[in-house]
Amino acid sequence: MTLVTRAGWRLRQAREWLRRRLRSPAVILMYHRVTELPNDPHLLAVTPEHFAEHLAAIRTHAAPVPLQELAGALRRGRVPARAVAITLDDGYADNLHGAKPLLMRHDVPATVFITAGQVGREREFWWDELDRLLLQPGTLPPVLRLRLNGGLREWPLEEASTYGEAAYQRDRGWNIECRDEPGPRQRVFRALFDLFYLLPSAERWALLDQVAAWAQAPPVVRPSHRTLTTDEVVRLAQGGLVEIGAHTVTHPVLAALPPAEQRREVQESKARLEAALGLEVASFAYPHGSCPPEAVASVGEAGFACACSSEPQVVFRDADRLRLPRLVVRDWDGATFARWLKWWLGMP
Ligand SMILES: [Zn+2]
Repeated sequence: MTLVTRAGWRLRQAREWLRRRLRSPAVILMYHRVTELPNDPHLLAVTPEHFAEHLAAIRTHAAPVPLQELAGALRRGRVPARAVAITLDDGYADNLHGAKPLLMRHDVPATVFITAGQVGREREFWWDELDRLLLQPGTLPPVLRLRLNGGLREWPLEEASTYGEAAYQRDRGWNIECRDEPGPRQRVFRALFDLFYLLPSAERWALLDQVAAWAQAPPVVRPSHRTLTTDEVVRLAQGGLVEIGAHTVTHPVLAALPPAEQRREVQESKARLEAALGLEVASFAYPHGSCPPEAVASVGEAGFACACSSEPQVVFRDADRLRLPRLVVRDWDGATFARWLKWWLGMP
């Protein structure tokens, strides 16, 4: 960065901060997992140690609020001062076993958005299966061939057909946000991720079955990557500190589906979770942040009081309750997190 652009960037940052200082926004944080993972190619995990530090920082510098309380204030045209709402997406089992005890210890409320079709399911999320099949040490056939749209696609693994412990240790810090891949395993992982991302659920699982058959991998769910069971969803909601929200049935990119399918994903996720809990489910989060107008309309029609996107922004009082912005939190230590949070809140 040159001196001029750095000065320009600083000026823009300062202007942004001042805008927040004057308008005192709230912040909705987006987490996924609270656990320690040996590799985390999607950057989903925050360690329990760091999560506890984040909660302590929120208690010190801000005012933790339930998401529904923030939505209620917005309905009245208000934003509670320095309000911070915590959300966790997807419905991993560690939300009960890793996150909830820490939320209770710090008395900080949170909303967990659950992918209803994944509750109690004997399969990992598709992006975790890709990690299990491609990025873990072991030997795979030299070329992956998938039947796709009547044709055959090929991805060579070259020298990484055999992938030893040393190579795994060398590469395990790699993640999908890195510009380059250290080897063919990561290149194929990224290619399949990009390919699978927009596919309809049934087609995606069929392709994953082909990858698993090629890898001769048994259909196991790693304890480290399992999702919540119905009983665990009920336990997560017990006590009222954790709110259960819906996150569709199959975790699709909603914009890639026809409107009727979008509506079904929205309504059915609400109905299934309400049946499991015996409680109203009033919050929704759009998977992958994809919130086309038809999906937003479906969320409103289904009776959700609020819904979260993944637009990285703070919440001002004129925010759209059915498209609330959120800030992604990474596995930072407490001091880094506190500096970051205070900047977004426009605090000195
Ligand atoms: Zn998600």
